[in-house]
Amino acid sequence: MKIHEFQAKQILKQFGVRIPRGEVADTPMRAREIAEDIGPRVVVKAQIHAGGRGKGGGVKLANTPVEAEMLAGEILGMTLVTHQTGPEGKLVKRILVEEALDIDRELYIGIVIDRATESPVVMASSQGGMEIEKVAAETPDLIFKEYIHPATGFGVFQARKLAFKLELSGDTLKQAVKFLLTLYKAFRASDASLAEINPLLVTKQGDVLALDAKMNFDDNALKRHPDIAKMRDLDEEDSLEVEASKFDLNYIKLDGSVGCMVNGAGLAMATMDIIMHSGGMPANFLDVGGGVSEEAVKNAFRILVSDKDVKAALINIFGGIVRCDLVANGIVKAAQELELDIPIVVRLEGTNVEQGKQILENSGLAFYSASSMKEAAEKIVPLAAQ
Ligand code: GDP
Ligand code: MN
Repeated sequence: MKIHEFQAKQILKQFGVRIPRGEVADTPMRAREIAEDIGPRVVVKAQIHAGGRGKGGGVKLANTPVEAEMLAGEILGMTLVTHQTGPEGKLVKRILVEEALDIDRELYIGIVIDRATESPVVMASSQGGMEIEKVAAETPDLIFKEYIHPATGFGVFQARKLAFKLELSGDTLKQAVKFLLTLYKAFRASDASLAEINPLLVTKQGDVLALDAKMNFDDNALKRHPDIAKMRDLDEEDSLEVEASKFDLNYIKLDGSVGCMVNGAGLAMATMDIIMHSGGMPANFLDVGGGVSEEAVKNAFRILVSDKDVKAALINIFGGIVRCDLVANGIVKAAQELELDIPIVVRLEGTNVEQGKQILENSGLAFYSASSMKEAAEKIVPLAAQ
């Protein structure tokens, strides 16, 4: 799960990570009040689940509270387009108003789980502020890494090593070491999958603070963190994925034109492979899981075909726990209600497969049936290309 910058900063603050003074606002008037309180110079920052806001015009400096109000009026309600939002952009509903600080250096700190070493890794670079992806691609030796052994944790010596590589010294070095250690503590304790500070600011006075903050969390651990779970902002997520999660269905949006309804993650992978092998591209996949009801199949199907990229749908169900007749009934009901105008290929196999096929046939609806995955893929690909 992703959260906003102001939320990440709230969490970090609880752990003692240093952040600029600031507050979130949803009206220009409120932005002015905050600026009167903490200003006069403030930074007005759009709150969306995407980076690159600075370049996109979503981060602006105001010299007076009146200017803060004016800039807030411009940013609130704007559709902000950055390299991470896609061309459609994201609507800005909230802004963070923070004290403006005098920048000496912009550094980069990131903590993620490294799959290769199966451990957290703390990354640091003096090339903060800009796109770190670019630094990683063009000058990877400017990113320093310390791997963390889960049993011993993040050692003070490791934090010092990174701070030295960032060419810090004196009190600034001490502050950076403390910053790194508290950031890691917050990362670990909140079951984060990512904590990124870009830029980590060194002020003209030599102080170290998080100017920007991004945190992602392991969805499977959210049960342990009800406060963090409450920070979820559904407006920032794919609307069909949100709709599917209401019915406990796993829906993933992809780039192609074939909608896929399957049961089980393994079958989903195999189905996508065979579609691609046959020259097509999945538009999404919807996994209805094991013990699914007729109602859930109906909802799954409705969600699947409301994706406007879907030109044809493939239903590939292996009836183990779930019965094929139940699936067939769900599909027929959904197809009747939705007045579908896209071709549908159905491949059913397993428990009660004969009854299932009979139900589809008797429905009078034009389904294409297939008896193997290969046949199903070969049928769906040309249909989705039309
Ligand atoms: P992002 O573009 O979405 O990553 O947003 P950031 O929070 O990283 O802000 C982008 C840039 O705005 C930073 O790299 C800074 O250069 C600038 N900025 C943000 N806050 C301040 C501030 O308090 N003072 C000054 N001078 N610049 C700031
Ligand atoms: Mn940033």
